[in-house]
Amino acid sequence: MPPPRPRRSTASNAPIRERSTSSSSLFDAPLKPKASAQPKPNPKAKVQAKSPAKTKANGTEKKVSVKPKTVLADDAKAGDDDPDAGDAEPPKKKARTAKGKVWPPPEIAPERHPPRNGYPIFESPSTTAAPNGGLPPSTTEKRPMLLGAHTSIAGGPAGALLRAGKAGANGLAMFTKSQRKWASNPYEPEAVERFRDLMKPKEEGGLGYPPESILVHGSYLINLGNPDQEKWNTSYECFKDDIYRCHQLGIKLYNWHPGSTVGACTKEESFASIAKAINKVHKEVPEVVTVIENMANAGSNIVGTAFSELASIIALVENKDRVRVCLDTCHLFASGYDLRTEESYADTMKKFDEEVGNGYLGGMHLNDSKADLAGNKDLHENIGLGKIGLTGFRCIMRDPLMAGIPLVLETPAPEKALETGDFAIWMREIKLLYEIQGIDDEEWKTRKDEIEERWRKERDSINPPKEKGLPAKGKAAPKGKKKSKKDDSEEEDD
Ligand SMILES: [Zn+2]
Ligand SMILES: [Zn+2]
Repeated sequence: MPPPRPRRSTASNAPIRERSTSSSSLFDAPLKPKASAQPKPNPKAKVQAKSPAKTKANGTEKKVSVKPKTVLADDAKAGDDDPDAGDAEPPKKKARTAKGKVWPPPEIAPERHPPRNGYPIFESPSTTAAPNGGLPPSTTEKRPMLLGAHTSIAGGPAGALLRAGKAGANGLAMFTKSQRKWASNPYEPEAVERFRDLMKPKEEGGLGYPPESILVHGSYLINLGNPDQEKWNTSYECFKDDIYRCHQLGIKLYNWHPGSTVGACTKEESFASIAKAINKVHKEVPEVVTVIENMANAGSNIVGTAFSELASIIALVENKDRVRVCLDTCHLFASGYDLRTEESYADTMKKFDEEVGNGYLGGMHLNDSKADLAGNKDLHENIGLGKIGLTGFRCIMRDPLMAGIPLVLETPAPEKALETGDFAIWMREIKLLYEIQGIDDEEWKTRKDEIEERWRKERDSINPPKEKGLPAKGKAAPKGKKKSKKDDSEEEDD
Protein backbone atom coordinates (compact mmCIF):
# COMPACT_ATOMS: atom_id res chain seq x y z
CA MET A 1 0.00 0.00 0.00
CA PRO A 2 2.77 2.44 -0.64
CA PRO A 3 1.46 5.71 -1.84
CA PRO A 4 1.52 5.59 -5.60
CA ARG A 5 4.18 7.81 -6.81
CA PRO A 6 4.27 9.69 -9.99
CA ARG A 7 7.47 9.16 -11.86
CA ARG A 8 9.50 12.21 -11.91
CA SER A 9 9.24 14.37 -14.88
CA THR A 10 12.25 14.19 -16.99
CA ALA A 11 11.12 17.01 -19.13
CA SER A 12 11.45 19.83 -16.74
CA ASN A 13 13.46 17.86 -14.26
CA ALA A 14 11.24 19.25 -11.65
CA PRO A 15 13.24 18.22 -8.67
CA ILE A 16 11.50 16.42 -5.95
CA ARG A 17 14.04 17.45 -3.50
CA GLU A 18 15.99 20.43 -4.31
CA ARG A 19 18.04 22.19 -1.79
CA SER A 20 19.79 25.40 -1.97
CA THR A 21 23.48 25.35 -1.72
CA SER A 22 24.19 27.44 1.23
CA SER A 23 23.24 27.51 4.80
CA SER A 24 19.59 26.85 4.33
CA SER A 25 17.84 24.35 6.38
CA LEU A 26 16.14 21.30 5.17
CA PHE A 27 12.95 23.22 5.22
CA ASP A 28 13.94 26.08 3.02
CA ALA A 29 13.88 24.03 -0.07
CA PRO A 30 10.74 22.57 -1.52
CA LEU A 31 10.97 19.25 0.18
CA LYS A 32 8.02 17.54 -1.30
CA PRO A 33 7.79 13.87 -1.32
CA LYS A 34 5.72 12.61 -4.12
CA ALA A 35 3.16 11.38 -1.74
CA SER A 36 0.34 11.67 -4.08
CA ALA A 37 -2.33 11.03 -1.56
CA GLN A 38 -1.22 13.65 0.87
CA PRO A 39 -0.53 16.86 -0.86
CA LYS A 40 1.32 18.92 1.67
CA PRO A 41 1.83 22.40 0.52
CA ASN A 42 4.11 22.84 3.42
CA PRO A 43 4.27 26.52 4.06
CA LYS A 44 7.88 26.67 4.85
CA ALA A 45 8.27 25.31 8.25
CA LYS A 46 10.40 27.27 10.55
CA VAL A 47 14.09 26.87 10.45
CA GLN A 48 14.84 27.93 13.91
CA ALA A 49 14.11 25.53 16.60
CA LYS A 50 12.89 27.33 19.57
CA SER A 51 14.95 27.79 22.50
CA PRO A 52 14.55 24.58 24.40
CA ALA A 53 13.11 26.21 27.41
CA LYS A 54 10.20 27.49 25.39
CA THR A 55 9.05 24.18 24.15
CA LYS A 56 5.97 23.70 26.12
CA ALA A 57 3.86 21.79 23.78
CA ASN A 58 5.66 18.56 24.14
CA GLY A 59 5.57 18.46 27.84
CA THR A 60 9.20 17.58 28.08
CA GLU A 61 10.19 20.94 29.29
CA LYS A 62 11.75 19.48 32.32
CA LYS A 63 14.45 18.03 30.17
CA VAL A 64 16.31 21.25 30.13
CA SER A 65 16.39 21.39 33.83
CA VAL A 66 19.74 21.37 35.37
CA LYS A 67 21.07 18.06 36.28
CA PRO A 68 22.98 17.56 39.43
CA LYS A 69 26.58 18.51 39.08
CA THR A 70 29.25 15.92 39.12
CA VAL A 71 27.07 13.27 37.74
CA LEU A 72 29.32 11.16 35.73
CA ALA A 73 27.43 8.42 34.16
CA ASP A 74 28.25 5.07 35.55
CA ASP A 75 29.83 3.81 32.43
CA ALA A 76 31.15 7.07 31.19
CA LYS A 77 34.68 7.16 30.08
CA ALA A 78 36.64 8.58 27.27
CA GLY A 79 35.38 7.25 24.02
CA ASP A 80 32.22 6.08 25.54
CA ASP A 81 29.38 7.62 23.71
CA ASP A 82 27.92 9.30 26.67
CA PRO A 83 27.30 12.97 26.56
CA ASP A 84 27.47 13.12 30.29
CA ALA A 85 30.99 11.90 30.34
CA GLY A 86 33.32 14.63 31.34
CA ASP A 87 30.62 17.17 31.02
CA ALA A 88 29.68 17.71 34.53
CA GLU A 89 31.31 20.95 35.40
CA PRO A 90 29.99 24.44 35.80
CA PRO A 91 28.95 26.59 32.88
CA LYS A 92 31.71 28.22 30.99
CA LYS A 93 32.19 28.63 27.31
CA LYS A 94 35.67 27.43 26.65
CA ALA A 95 38.63 26.03 28.38
CA ARG A 96 36.31 24.51 30.85
CA THR A 97 37.76 21.92 33.06
CA ALA A 98 36.15 18.72 33.97
CA LYS A 99 37.94 16.36 36.19
CA GLY A 100 41.09 18.21 35.36
CA LYS A 101 40.43 18.11 31.63
CA VAL A 102 40.14 21.12 29.36
CA TRP A 103 37.33 21.46 26.94
CA PRO A 104 37.64 20.93 24.13
CA PRO A 105 40.37 18.39 24.58
CA PRO A 106 43.36 19.27 22.44
CA GLU A 107 42.93 16.26 20.17
CA ILE A 108 39.69 17.60 18.79
CA ALA A 109 40.21 21.33 19.23
CA PRO A 110 39.28 23.30 16.12
CA GLU A 111 42.80 24.65 15.62
CA ARG A 112 43.83 21.17 14.65
CA HIS A 113 41.13 20.67 12.06
CA PRO A 114 42.06 20.31 8.43
CA PRO A 115 40.40 22.85 6.19
CA ARG A 116 37.05 21.54 5.08
CA ASN A 117 37.02 23.43 1.87
CA GLY A 118 37.91 21.59 -1.25
CA TYR A 119 35.21 18.98 -0.85
CA PRO A 120 31.97 20.67 -0.23
CA ILE A 121 30.29 20.80 -3.59
CA PHE A 122 28.53 18.35 -5.79
CA GLU A 123 29.77 18.77 -9.33
CA SER A 124 27.41 17.48 -11.90
CA PRO A 125 29.07 14.31 -13.14
CA SER A 126 30.06 13.79 -16.70
CA THR A 127 27.76 10.86 -17.13
CA THR A 128 24.91 10.89 -19.54
CA ALA A 129 21.31 10.90 -18.48
CA ALA A 130 21.13 9.99 -14.82
CA PRO A 131 22.35 6.41 -15.06
CA ASN A 132 22.24 6.13 -11.33
CA GLY A 133 18.54 6.42 -11.04
CA GLY A 134 19.11 9.73 -9.40
CA LEU A 135 17.62 13.00 -10.33
CA PRO A 136 19.43 14.84 -13.06
CA PRO A 137 20.35 18.24 -11.70
CA SER A 138 17.72 20.71 -12.73
CA THR A 139 20.18 23.52 -12.87
CA THR A 140 23.88 23.91 -12.93
CA GLU A 141 23.63 24.98 -9.37
CA LYS A 142 26.17 23.23 -7.26
CA ARG A 143 25.01 21.46 -4.21
CA PRO A 144 27.02 20.35 -1.23
CA MET A 145 27.68 16.72 -0.52
CA LEU A 146 27.23 16.33 3.20
CA LEU A 147 29.65 13.48 3.60
CA GLY A 148 30.99 12.46 6.98
CA ALA A 149 31.08 9.81 9.65
CA HIS A 150 29.31 8.79 12.80
CA THR A 151 31.18 10.58 15.53
CA SER A 152 31.23 10.31 19.27
CA ILE A 153 29.53 12.67 21.70
CA ALA A 154 31.85 11.80 24.55
CA GLY A 155 32.27 14.94 26.59
CA GLY A 156 28.96 16.35 25.41
CA PRO A 157 27.12 16.68 22.10
CA ALA A 158 29.42 19.42 20.85
CA GLY A 159 32.17 16.83 20.77
CA ALA A 160 30.50 15.24 17.76
CA LEU A 161 30.83 18.43 15.75
CA LEU A 162 34.43 18.91 16.78
CA ARG A 163 35.30 15.35 15.84
CA ALA A 164 33.50 15.63 12.52
CA GLY A 165 35.40 18.82 11.84
CA LYS A 166 38.61 17.05 12.58
CA ALA A 167 37.75 14.30 10.13
CA GLY A 168 37.15 16.86 7.43
CA ALA A 169 33.48 15.94 7.24
CA ASN A 170 30.71 18.12 5.90
CA GLY A 171 28.05 15.99 7.49
CA LEU A 172 27.86 13.64 10.41
CA ALA A 173 25.84 11.29 12.52
CA MET A 174 25.82 11.10 16.28
CA PHE A 175 23.81 9.72 19.16
CA THR A 176 22.06 12.18 21.41
CA LYS A 177 22.81 10.18 24.53
CA SER A 178 24.29 6.89 25.57
CA GLN A 179 22.88 4.37 23.15
CA ARG A 180 22.98 1.66 25.77
CA LYS A 181 20.83 3.13 28.45
CA TRP A 182 17.14 3.84 28.46
CA ALA A 183 17.57 7.14 30.19
CA SER A 184 20.32 9.69 30.43
CA ASN A 185 20.60 12.99 32.20
CA PRO A 186 19.08 15.91 30.40
CA TYR A 187 21.50 18.24 28.71
CA GLU A 188 22.97 21.10 30.62
CA PRO A 189 21.76 24.31 29.03
CA GLU A 190 25.33 25.28 28.30
CA ALA A 191 25.98 22.00 26.48
CA VAL A 192 23.09 22.89 24.20
CA GLU A 193 24.40 26.39 23.72
CA ARG A 194 27.85 25.12 22.91
CA PHE A 195 26.45 22.78 20.30
CA ARG A 196 24.33 25.47 18.70
CA ASP A 197 27.29 27.83 18.64
CA LEU A 198 29.39 25.27 16.82
CA MET A 199 26.69 24.65 14.23
CA LYS A 200 26.86 28.26 13.15
CA PRO A 201 28.65 29.31 9.99
CA LYS A 202 32.34 29.94 10.23
CA GLU A 203 31.84 33.66 9.86
CA GLU A 204 29.91 33.52 13.08
CA GLY A 205 32.55 31.56 14.90
CA GLY A 206 31.05 28.10 14.40
CA LEU A 207 32.17 25.12 12.39
CA GLY A 208 29.46 25.50 9.78
CA TYR A 209 27.28 22.44 10.26
CA PRO A 210 23.80 23.42 9.17
CA PRO A 211 20.85 21.46 10.56
CA GLU A 212 20.43 19.34 7.45
CA SER A 213 24.02 18.12 7.66
CA ILE A 214 23.45 16.17 10.86
CA LEU A 215 21.64 12.86 11.05
CA VAL A 216 21.19 11.70 14.59
CA HIS A 217 21.12 7.96 15.16
CA GLY A 218 18.57 6.81 17.68
CA SER A 219 19.13 4.46 20.55
CA TYR A 220 19.57 0.83 19.67
CA LEU A 221 17.26 -0.15 22.49
CA ILE A 222 14.17 1.21 20.83
CA ASN A 223 11.70 -1.24 19.35
CA LEU A 224 8.47 0.41 18.34
CA GLY A 225 7.28 -2.66 16.48
CA ASN A 226 6.78 -4.65 19.64
CA PRO A 227 3.10 -5.32 20.31
CA ASP A 228 3.64 -5.48 24.08
CA GLN A 229 2.20 -2.20 25.26
CA GLU A 230 4.46 -1.77 28.22
CA LYS A 231 7.57 -2.35 26.17
CA TRP A 232 6.26 -0.11 23.45
CA ASN A 233 5.76 2.65 26.03
CA THR A 234 9.32 2.30 27.28
CA SER A 235 10.63 2.43 23.73
CA TYR A 236 8.44 5.36 22.91
CA GLU A 237 9.74 7.40 25.84
CA CYS A 238 13.31 6.77 24.76
CA PHE A 239 12.43 7.59 21.15
CA LYS A 240 10.70 10.80 22.12
CA ASP A 241 13.55 11.77 24.40
CA ASP A 242 16.03 11.25 21.55
CA ILE A 243 13.92 13.42 19.28
CA TYR A 244 13.42 16.05 21.91
CA ARG A 245 17.17 16.26 22.29
CA CYS A 246 17.48 16.80 18.54
CA HIS A 247 15.01 19.59 18.84
CA GLN A 248 16.95 21.14 21.69
CA LEU A 249 20.14 21.03 19.68
CA GLY A 250 18.56 22.42 16.54
CA ILE A 251 19.01 19.17 14.59
CA LYS A 252 16.41 18.30 11.96
CA LEU A 253 17.04 14.68 11.07
CA TYR A 254 16.63 11.73 13.38
CA ASN A 255 17.20 8.21 12.15
CA TRP A 256 16.40 4.99 13.99
CA HIS A 257 15.76 1.32 13.45
CA PRO A 258 12.06 0.75 12.96
CA GLY A 259 11.94 -2.38 15.09
CA SER A 260 10.90 -5.97 15.14
CA THR A 261 7.73 -7.97 15.59
CA VAL A 262 9.72 -10.09 18.04
CA GLY A 263 7.65 -12.90 16.60
CA ALA A 264 4.66 -11.74 18.57
CA CYS A 265 2.58 -10.12 15.85
CA THR A 266 2.33 -9.69 12.11
CA LYS A 267 4.48 -7.29 10.18
CA GLU A 268 1.39 -5.21 9.45
CA GLU A 269 0.71 -4.86 13.15
CA SER A 270 4.27 -3.71 13.66
CA PHE A 271 3.96 -1.16 10.88
CA ALA A 272 0.95 0.24 12.67
CA SER A 273 2.73 0.38 16.04
CA ILE A 274 5.67 2.13 14.48
CA ALA A 275 3.52 4.62 12.63
CA LYS A 276 1.57 5.27 15.80
CA ALA A 277 4.81 6.27 17.51
CA ILE A 278 5.80 8.49 14.61
CA ASN A 279 2.45 10.23 14.55
CA LYS A 280 2.50 10.71 18.29
CA VAL A 281 6.00 12.09 18.41
CA HIS A 282 5.22 14.46 15.57
CA LYS A 283 2.56 15.97 17.78
CA GLU A 284 4.66 16.03 20.90
CA VAL A 285 7.96 17.35 19.59
CA PRO A 286 8.11 20.00 16.90
CA GLU A 287 10.00 20.06 13.66
CA VAL A 288 12.37 17.11 13.76
CA VAL A 289 12.04 14.79 10.78
CA THR A 290 11.84 11.10 11.64
CA VAL A 291 14.04 9.09 9.29
CA ILE A 292 13.40 5.35 9.12
CA GLU A 293 16.47 3.20 8.45
CA ASN A 294 16.26 0.20 6.18
CA MET A 295 17.45 -2.97 7.83
CA ALA A 296 19.37 -6.12 7.12
CA ASN A 297 17.91 -9.58 7.76
CA ALA A 298 15.20 -9.94 5.19
CA GLY A 299 12.74 -12.65 6.07
CA SER A 300 13.20 -12.28 9.80
CA ASN A 301 11.09 -10.49 12.38
CA ILE A 302 12.97 -7.29 11.66
CA VAL A 303 10.85 -4.59 10.12
CA GLY A 304 12.10 -2.43 7.29
CA THR A 305 14.27 -4.81 5.31
CA ALA A 306 12.31 -4.28 2.10
CA PHE A 307 11.34 -1.04 0.40
CA SER A 308 7.74 -2.16 0.49
CA GLU A 309 7.86 -2.34 4.28
CA LEU A 310 9.25 1.17 4.56
CA ALA A 311 6.51 2.35 2.24
CA SER A 312 3.88 0.59 4.32
CA ILE A 313 4.99 2.48 7.42
CA ILE A 314 5.14 5.80 5.60
CA ALA A 315 1.66 5.24 4.25
CA LEU A 316 0.38 5.32 7.82
CA VAL A 317 2.20 8.50 8.77
CA GLU A 318 -0.01 11.55 8.88
CA ASN A 319 2.57 14.25 8.38
CA LYS A 320 4.58 13.15 5.38
CA ASP A 321 6.74 16.23 5.60
CA ARG A 322 8.29 14.78 8.70
CA VAL A 323 9.10 11.28 7.60
CA ARG A 324 12.04 10.18 5.49
CA VAL A 325 14.13 7.09 4.88
CA CYS A 326 17.80 6.49 5.49
CA LEU A 327 19.31 3.82 3.28
CA ASP A 328 22.19 1.91 4.76
CA THR A 329 24.14 0.38 1.89
CA CYS A 330 25.30 -2.60 3.90
CA HIS A 331 21.75 -3.31 5.03
CA LEU A 332 20.51 -2.92 1.47
CA PHE A 333 23.04 -5.36 0.17
CA ALA A 334 22.43 -7.83 2.98
CA SER A 335 18.74 -7.75 2.19
CA GLY A 336 19.29 -8.51 -1.46
CA TYR A 337 19.45 -5.09 -3.08
CA ASP A 338 22.47 -5.13 -5.35
CA LEU A 339 24.72 -2.10 -5.68
CA ARG A 340 27.83 -3.55 -7.23
CA THR A 341 27.60 -2.16 -10.75
CA GLU A 342 26.20 0.92 -12.44
CA GLU A 343 23.32 -1.18 -13.69
CA SER A 344 22.47 -2.84 -10.40
CA TYR A 345 22.75 0.45 -8.55
CA ALA A 346 20.40 2.10 -11.01
CA ASP A 347 18.02 -0.80 -10.70
CA THR A 348 17.98 -0.67 -6.91
CA MET A 349 17.43 3.07 -6.86
CA LYS A 350 14.69 2.72 -9.41
CA LYS A 351 12.95 0.24 -7.16
CA PHE A 352 13.33 2.64 -4.28
CA ASP A 353 11.76 5.41 -6.29
CA GLU A 354 8.91 3.24 -7.40
CA GLU A 355 8.15 1.68 -4.06
CA VAL A 356 8.98 4.47 -1.65
CA GLY A 357 9.81 7.57 -3.65
CA ASN A 358 13.03 9.48 -4.09
CA GLY A 359 11.48 12.41 -2.32
CA TYR A 360 11.62 10.38 0.87
CA LEU A 361 15.34 9.86 0.83
CA GLY A 362 16.66 11.70 3.87
CA GLY A 363 20.13 10.25 4.33
CA MET A 364 22.48 7.39 3.57
CA HIS A 365 24.75 5.24 5.67
CA LEU A 366 27.74 4.36 3.56
CA ASN A 367 29.14 0.99 4.48
CA ASP A 368 30.60 -1.78 2.44
CA SER A 369 29.62 -5.30 3.38
CA LYS A 370 31.78 -8.18 4.50
CA ALA A 371 28.93 -10.54 3.69
CA ASP A 372 27.52 -11.54 0.33
CA LEU A 373 24.53 -10.16 -1.45
CA ALA A 374 21.33 -11.24 0.29
CA GLY A 375 23.46 -12.87 2.96
CA ASN A 376 21.27 -11.35 5.66
CA LYS A 377 24.33 -10.55 7.68
CA ASP A 378 24.99 -7.03 8.78
CA LEU A 379 28.75 -6.81 8.77
CA HIS A 380 30.14 -3.44 7.87
CA GLU A 381 33.35 -3.11 5.92
CA ASN A 382 35.42 -0.14 4.82
CA ILE A 383 34.30 1.54 1.62
CA GLY A 384 35.15 -0.40 -1.51
CA LEU A 385 36.88 -3.24 0.29
CA GLY A 386 33.91 -5.50 0.82
CA LYS A 387 31.45 -7.28 -1.41
CA ILE A 388 29.89 -4.10 -2.73
CA GLY A 389 33.09 -2.59 -4.02
CA LEU A 390 34.11 0.87 -5.14
CA THR A 391 31.88 1.09 -8.18
CA GLY A 392 28.72 1.09 -6.11
CA PHE A 393 30.02 3.93 -3.96
CA ARG A 394 31.12 5.88 -6.98
CA CYS A 395 27.54 5.63 -8.26
CA ILE A 396 26.29 7.04 -4.99
CA MET A 397 28.79 9.88 -5.02
CA ARG A 398 27.80 10.75 -8.58
CA ASP A 399 24.08 10.51 -7.99
CA PRO A 400 22.58 13.98 -7.76
CA LEU A 401 19.98 12.53 -5.46
CA MET A 402 22.68 12.34 -2.83
CA ALA A 403 23.52 16.01 -2.81
CA GLY A 404 22.32 17.88 0.22
CA ILE A 405 21.53 14.90 2.47
CA PRO A 406 23.84 13.44 5.11
CA LEU A 407 26.00 10.58 3.82
CA VAL A 408 27.43 8.88 6.84
CA LEU A 409 30.26 6.39 7.16
CA GLU A 410 29.76 3.71 9.78
CA THR A 411 32.80 1.79 8.73
CA PRO A 412 35.28 -0.06 10.94
CA ALA A 413 37.99 1.98 12.56
CA PRO A 414 40.88 1.13 14.82
CA GLU A 415 39.98 0.24 18.35
CA LYS A 416 41.18 3.40 19.98
CA ALA A 417 40.25 5.81 17.23
CA LEU A 418 37.83 7.73 19.34
CA GLU A 419 39.89 7.95 22.44
CA THR A 420 42.94 9.11 20.60
CA GLY A 421 41.11 11.37 18.21
CA ASP A 422 42.69 9.55 15.31
CA PHE A 423 40.18 9.66 12.53
CA ALA A 424 42.60 8.75 9.79
CA ILE A 425 40.40 6.00 8.45
CA TRP A 426 37.39 8.24 7.93
CA MET A 427 39.46 11.11 6.61
CA ARG A 428 40.86 8.76 3.99
CA GLU A 429 37.49 7.33 3.18
CA ILE A 430 36.03 10.78 2.71
CA LYS A 431 38.91 11.71 0.48
CA LEU A 432 38.59 8.50 -1.47
CA LEU A 433 34.89 9.02 -2.06
CA TYR A 434 35.48 12.48 -3.46
CA GLU A 435 38.30 11.14 -5.56
CA ILE A 436 36.19 8.46 -7.22
CA GLN A 437 33.33 10.90 -7.64
CA GLY A 438 35.57 13.01 -9.84
CA ILE A 439 36.64 10.20 -12.17
CA ASP A 440 34.67 9.92 -15.37
CA ASP A 441 33.28 6.71 -16.77
CA GLU A 442 36.06 5.95 -19.24
CA GLU A 443 38.84 6.58 -16.80
CA TRP A 444 37.05 4.59 -14.15
CA LYS A 445 37.31 1.43 -16.19
CA THR A 446 41.06 1.65 -16.30
CA ARG A 447 41.72 3.03 -12.85
CA LYS A 448 39.33 1.18 -10.61
CA ASP A 449 41.65 -1.70 -9.77
CA GLU A 450 44.62 0.49 -9.14
CA ILE A 451 42.67 2.72 -6.79
CA GLU A 452 41.25 -0.21 -4.94
CA GLU A 453 44.67 -1.73 -4.45
CA ARG A 454 46.16 1.49 -3.22
CA TRP A 455 43.29 2.06 -0.84
CA ARG A 456 43.41 -1.47 0.53
CA LYS A 457 47.04 -0.99 1.44
CA GLU A 458 46.26 2.30 3.07
CA ARG A 459 43.39 0.82 5.01
CA ASP A 460 45.50 -2.11 6.11
CA SER A 461 48.13 0.25 7.41
CA ILE A 462 45.59 2.18 9.45
CA ASN A 463 43.37 -0.64 10.54
CA PRO A 464 44.65 -4.11 9.73
CA PRO A 465 41.77 -6.48 9.03
CA LYS A 466 40.89 -8.89 11.76
CA GLU A 467 40.89 -12.54 11.08
CA LYS A 468 37.62 -14.40 11.12
CA GLY A 469 35.73 -11.92 9.01
CA LEU A 470 34.38 -10.15 12.02
CA PRO A 471 34.23 -6.42 12.11
CA ALA A 472 36.83 -4.63 14.10
CA LYS A 473 36.06 -5.02 17.74
CA GLY A 474 32.69 -6.45 16.91
CA LYS A 475 32.02 -8.35 20.00
CA ALA A 476 28.86 -10.24 20.41
CA ALA A 477 26.22 -8.33 22.21
CA PRO A 478 24.62 -10.15 25.06
CA LYS A 479 21.81 -12.45 24.13
CA GLY A 480 20.48 -10.91 21.01
CA LYS A 481 20.45 -7.51 22.58
CA LYS A 482 21.86 -4.48 21.00
CA LYS A 483 25.50 -3.98 20.46
CA SER A 484 27.44 -1.41 22.29
CA LYS A 485 29.59 -0.14 19.55
CA LYS A 486 29.16 3.29 18.34
CA ASP A 487 31.44 4.64 15.72
CA ASP A 488 32.32 1.25 14.59
CA SER A 489 30.45 -1.24 12.59
CA GLU A 490 26.90 -1.54 13.49
CA GLU A 491 25.58 -5.01 13.74
CA GLU A 492 21.97 -5.56 13.98
CA ASP A 493 21.39 -8.85 15.58
CA ASP A 494 17.88 -9.17 16.77
ZN1 LIG B 1 21.51 2.14 12.13
ZN1 LIG C 1 23.28 2.18 9.47
